[in-house]
Amino acid sequence: MKTRKEKTEMPENIPVITQEMMEKTAIEIAKRRYDRKQSPVKGVKDINCPSCGNSTMSYADDLTFDVTLTGERIVIPNLTGLKCSKCGEVAFDAHSTKLIENYTADKPTGGYELNVSTVGGGKLGMYFPRDVLRVMKISKNDKAILTPLSKRKMVIELLNSTA
Ligand SMILES: [Zn+2]
Repeated sequence: MKTRKEKTEMPENIPVITQEMMEKTAIEIAKRRYDRKQSPVKGVKDINCPSCGNSTMSYADDLTFDVTLTGERIVIPNLTGLKCSKCGEVAFDAHSTKLIENYTADKPTGGYELNVSTVGGGKLGMYFPRDVLRVMKISKNDKAILTPLSKRKMVIELLNSTA
């Protein structure tokens, strides 16, 4: 019986999922802490959740922003904002949003070029690139939260239904 210790660091010869996306993978963690008292939503409790409609959205200071840009993963822990205890909807406060923007704004604009298309009924939509579908576990009928960060930038967070 082998009793090898689990290592938390990524082995260098980790199996490649897709070359393009994984070869440049890096994890950037914002360790900067800041004064949590500054959050304007501190103390907010049980307000209406815009996603599920329940009065279960409250202040949280342990939110994590986690996004994978082209070949790069950005994780920012200890963010403040509101979180719904029922459906998991998250809304970052202004300070956290600014922090997120700081860490994502200067990233190389690799990304995937998408066209906005008409998807029927006059609605506009975008199709996920195949590479993205291959790497991320996106299935039909999945739910996602779209968070506009600015007028030109948005984040789509997939909600995993494995609760
Ligand atoms: Zn909710």
